[in-house]
Amino acid sequence: MKATSAIDTNNAHAARVIKAMSNLFAVDTDSGVLTCPARKKLKGEAGIIAGDFVRLEQEGGAYVVSEILPRKNSLIRPLVANIDRLVAVAALIPKPDFFLIDKLIINANRQDIDIVLCLNKSDLSTELYAELCAQYGEIVDKIIITSAADGEVSELKSVLSNKLSCLAGQSAVGKSSLINALIGKPVQKTDVISEKAERGKNTTTRAEILKLAQNSYIIDTPGFSMLDIHGVLPEELALYYPEYVEVLPDCRYRGCTHTAEPGCRVRELASEGGLSRSRYERYCAMFSELNAVGARRSAPGRKT
Ligand code: GDP
Ligand code: ZN
Repeated sequence: MKATSAIDTNNAHAARVIKAMSNLFAVDTDSGVLTCPARKKLKGEAGIIAGDFVRLEQEGGAYVVSEILPRKNSLIRPLVANIDRLVAVAALIPKPDFFLIDKLIINANRQDIDIVLCLNKSDLSTELYAELCAQYGEIVDKIIITSAADGEVSELKSVLSNKLSCLAGQSAVGKSSLINALIGKPVQKTDVISEKAERGKNTTTRAEILKLAQNSYIIDTPGFSMLDIHGVLPEELALYYPEYVEVLPDCRYRGCTHTAEPGCRVRELASEGGLSRSRYERYCAMFSELNAVGARRSAPGRKT
C-alpha cells in the first residue's frame, strides 16, 4: 500500500462518483465531495461514469481515483452506473401511457433495478391509483402517492433512501417538480432548448447525480434509454414480465411465448381476469412489434 489516506478507501460506499467531467470527477466521500483526477490508465471513453463506486488513493497530497469497482448495471442515456431503483412517475394528466410504463418495467427488470410506481398530482385526483394497483400492484415493489404541488413527498423520500434512483416517466407528469420538492428549492433546470440541441447532436447525455441525503441519490435526467426495448428478442420478452414467469410452468409448452400457443395459462388467466387483460394485450402488441423489427433486420437487401 503506497499511501495512507484519511478516507476509508476499503469501504466502497464511501466513494461514489456523482459527476464525471472530461478528466475530473466529483466523488462523494464520507468527508464530503472531492474533485479528483483519475490515474491515467483509467481515463478515456470507457472510463469512469457517474454512479461508479471507486477507490481513491493519495498521490502527491491530493486524491486520485485509482480503481473503478465492478458495476451492477449501467444505462447509456443518461450515462450512469449502479442504479438501484427506478421510480416511474405517472399522473392523471397527461393521460397515462401504459405502454411506456411497461417498457420502463421491462428495462428495469433487464438491468436488475427495483421498481416503484409514483402517482403524482394527487392534489388533483387519486383516481388513477386503483388502476395502477390493478395492473401493476403484484409486480412492482410499491405504489406511492405524491403531490409535488403540495410538497407531499414523504413517501417518495423514504423509497429513495439509501439508494441511487432514477426518475422516469412521460413529459409533464412532474418529475422536475418532484425533485425540486425533495431538495426544497428549485435545482432542476428545464432548459428545453439545450436539451434538444444535445439530442440533435446525438451526444450522450451526461448524468449529474443529486445527493438528497447520506447515500441517497437521484439522477436529474430522465431515463431515455429506459424507453427503448429494441434490443429485446421477442421470445425473451416474457422473461421481463414477472407475473408470466411465475405462470409459465402451467403453460403446455416449455418455451411458451404466451401469444398463439394452445394451452397457454397466461392467456387463459388474462381472459378470466386473474392477470391484467390490458397489460396482456399490450404484451401481445409489443411481441408483434419486436417480431416485425426482427423480420425487417433479417430481410435481405435492407438499406440500413
Ligand atoms: P416533468 O416534465 O415530468 O419534469 O414535469 P414538470 O415538473 O415540468 O411539471 C409539469 C407541469 O405539471 C408543471 O406545470 C407543474 O407545475 C405541474 N405539476 C407538477 N407536479 C404537480 C402536482 O403535484 N400537482 C399539480 N397540480 N401540478 C403539478
Ligand atoms: Zn403461455
